[in-house]
Amino acid sequence: MHHMTLAEIARGLADKKFSSEELTKALLARIAQLDPQLNSFISLTEELALSQAKTADARRANGESGALLGAPIAHKDLFCTQGIRTSCGSKMLDNFKAPYDATVVAKLAAAGTVTLGKTNMDEFAMGSANESSHYGAVKNPWNLEHVPGGSSGGSAAAVAARLLPAATATDTGGSIRQPAAFTNLTGLKPTYGRVSRWGMIAYASSLDQGGPLARTAEDCAILLQGMAGFDPNDSTSIDEPVPDYSASLNGSLQGLRIGVPKEYFSAGLDPRIAELIHSSVKELEKLGAVIKEISLPNMQHAIPAYYVIAPAEASSNLSRFDGVRFGYRCENPENLVDLYKRSRGEGFGAEVQRRIMVGAYALSAGYYDAYYLKAQKIRRLVKNDFMAAFNEVDIILGPTTPNPAWKLGAKNSDPVAEYLEDVYTITANLAGLPGLSMPAGFVDGLPVGVQLLAPYFQEGRLLNVAHQYQLNTDWHTRTPTGF
Ligand code: GLN
Repeated sequence: MHHMTLAEIARGLADKKFSSEELTKALLARIAQLDPQLNSFISLTEELALSQAKTADARRANGESGALLGAPIAHKDLFCTQGIRTSCGSKMLDNFKAPYDATVVAKLAAAGTVTLGKTNMDEFAMGSANESSHYGAVKNPWNLEHVPGGSSGGSAAAVAARLLPAATATDTGGSIRQPAAFTNLTGLKPTYGRVSRWGMIAYASSLDQGGPLARTAEDCAILLQGMAGFDPNDSTSIDEPVPDYSASLNGSLQGLRIGVPKEYFSAGLDPRIAELIHSSVKELEKLGAVIKEISLPNMQHAIPAYYVIAPAEASSNLSRFDGVRFGYRCENPENLVDLYKRSRGEGFGAEVQRRIMVGAYALSAGYYDAYYLKAQKIRRLVKNDFMAAFNEVDIILGPTTPNPAWKLGAKNSDPVAEYLEDVYTITANLAGLPGLSMPAGFVDGLPVGVQLLAPYFQEGRLLNVAHQYQLNTDWHTRTPTGF
């Protein structure tokens, strides 16, 4: 049962081959058996799952249908879930039970999904390896000595290990696409404003975006359909109609113009990954696509700009965690200042504290122009590069990451080395564009992802290209040994 995709589950449920309750029980048993090796869950929600599964079965018995009705999923542990711990991977929120559901959670529940649990993540979504979680590192099912990517490493490891068919995730600088690449999944970061951020604990508000992690483009289309749409509670949510993503999968790629930026193939890229990217380009050419070399001249400035803007926004967003209103509070504070200092000092981990300090520094009166304002100007240049490129091509293609998943601990002593691994993903967040990563082969037994970027609101085009590619390749069907 655990090998089924969301699409197969929907067909099986519709044909009454099994019930959602049976499927839910089977997956919960599988999680109990296998997750101790991976640590991909922070909380399991068995009771909720079984009651949602029974409700979904009853709704189907009453004649309702729907691709997500009875489908088991999990939420990254930064989506607020009413009455259930929502920790954001932090000691700061270890005792926090959200008083309401995030819009994404509520929408998916209304569509009939079954929540199996809350997945592990880097603390406050800061990281590219899922090693900064208060609940311990997540392991990559392809090789337990390697990281699964971050910050949505728990969602990625769980889906890759077939503990469940799909999960929600978020992407501020690559946290859907990069773990997708590291674990052989398909992951989609939607256009900024496409998916509501209401009830999604904020890291960097102008960059954060929720999206699906699954094994196929077809499943990403199904899950995104349940997540996307206007939300009056989120002032950056965009009131654009949501297209039928599943209907967009089958278009022909004849004449599709694919741009490959020359800057992507610099010295930092593992040549074996470059090789696989070239093979994926050839495969798409066979399907009728036309390849064109393009240039994104400001790409080299994106990492420094992002690592000013994201910490700046984080320092502001995380100021609410002060030990007073909710979250962790230190023992026996001597006075108010001591309460703030120790609650934050004890509640936040090292990487989060580093980002708060960098961000507060970049925003301080004497340095604002030199760092924050400069970074915002670079952000506009990065966006302009994309706008110029999309005048010539329909899709931009390249690697998702410069290297495959590294060994646990390998970059712990050098945070900047980890930041540099985000080179291909963060430009889409700076520009607010949609991006998708899909499996493109293996290096030393570890998965490699190819990234596709499209103009605003062209998620359907990304899913179309990925689906056609997946109909003609089998990388995405490979399963990690032991799972
Ligand atoms: N690795 C990036 C960071 O640490 C991106 C994380 C994310 O997308 N949430 O900020």
